[in-house]
Amino acid sequence: MALKDILGQNRALEMLKGCIVKNRLAHAYLFAGESGIGKRLTAVNFAKTLNCRETVHSSPRPRSAKRGRQLTVDSEEKKLHITHHEIDCCDKCPSCIKIDKAIHPDVFFIQPEGDGGQIRIEIIRVLEEALSYKAYEGRWKIAIIDEAENLNQSAANAFLKTLEEPPEHSILILISSMPELIPETIRSRRQSINFSPLPINMMVELLIQNSPASLREAGRAKLNDLREPALLSMLSCGRPGRALSEDLIDKRNCLLDRFKSLLGMGDINAWDDRDSMEEWFEWVHLWLRDIAVFKATNSSGLLINYDKESEIKKKKKNAALKDILVLSDKLNNIKSLLRFNLNEKITLNYTSLLLKETFG
Ligand SMILES: [Zn+2]
Repeated sequence: MALKDILGQNRALEMLKGCIVKNRLAHAYLFAGESGIGKRLTAVNFAKTLNCRETVHSSPRPRSAKRGRQLTVDSEEKKLHITHHEIDCCDKCPSCIKIDKAIHPDVFFIQPEGDGGQIRIEIIRVLEEALSYKAYEGRWKIAIIDEAENLNQSAANAFLKTLEEPPEHSILILISSMPELIPETIRSRRQSINFSPLPINMMVELLIQNSPASLREAGRAKLNDLREPALLSMLSCGRPGRALSEDLIDKRNCLLDRFKSLLGMGDINAWDDRDSMEEWFEWVHLWLRDIAVFKATNSSGLLINYDKESEIKKKKKNAALKDILVLSDKLNNIKSLLRFNLNEKITLNYTSLLLKETFG
């Protein structure tokens, strides 16, 4: 895979390629946008492009610390008229292959670890030391820090030092679906690259080209039926990472079962963990959105869960539009509080009560 294979993020890609073409690479980037949208994929392929051994591009020389952010370019390189179109990795050279396998000695991958899901100061210190040495075989030493909002306070403070005194030949790429949770002191020292959800037609095309194993096994006939890719596109809200990595339709059905059980239609089972709680609250927002849309328009054309029209129709009969919107706000509020380790049993009972008040 290369930058050219990343669909629907042209604006972000053009900005990154522009940095290379103009020899104005930032010391730190923040890739911001919803999860499963292509941020990490772009970061990996940007790192591949910067260190690729085969690609013909201006190969910007690593800046000198004394020169600040401006990259130096020799006269031969200045003679090259490089276009955005030509900027990409080859995806075949040893450097590209090593980065894909996460074994390149100059490219570091960092993500939250442990029960608390935090990025700890010890990891940042190891990274600082690794960045302080010259690159072994690449042009750049690159750190890709996934879910950067999970830098804990001490790690964030230590990281700030790296941002203020960037080691030579280094580029930091922070990735976050919740950039507002990253301390302002860090956010203000990086270049932001924003990623957007893909439009439905592009998602359908991508899903047909890269169908998950379960769909491939079902045969081309099923793939050619656009109904399923279209539904997956809607359920993933334009996030290809989600649509390709899991059986979203099956998962949606499980989330719907929990919705019914919380309404008193069956046994209430506890959530498996905080991730599954967050997932349910994220999904229920879409479900309530569909019920509210149907209530307001009486049309199925705008539904995300359009295959569940009959169930949505039943639910909209039981509730006033105003109450559905109030419920949606309250559940969103609970979702935003999940980070503070809400008691699961209390959350379960309170949520059940709210649903029954609206739809009971
Ligand atoms: Zn390459």
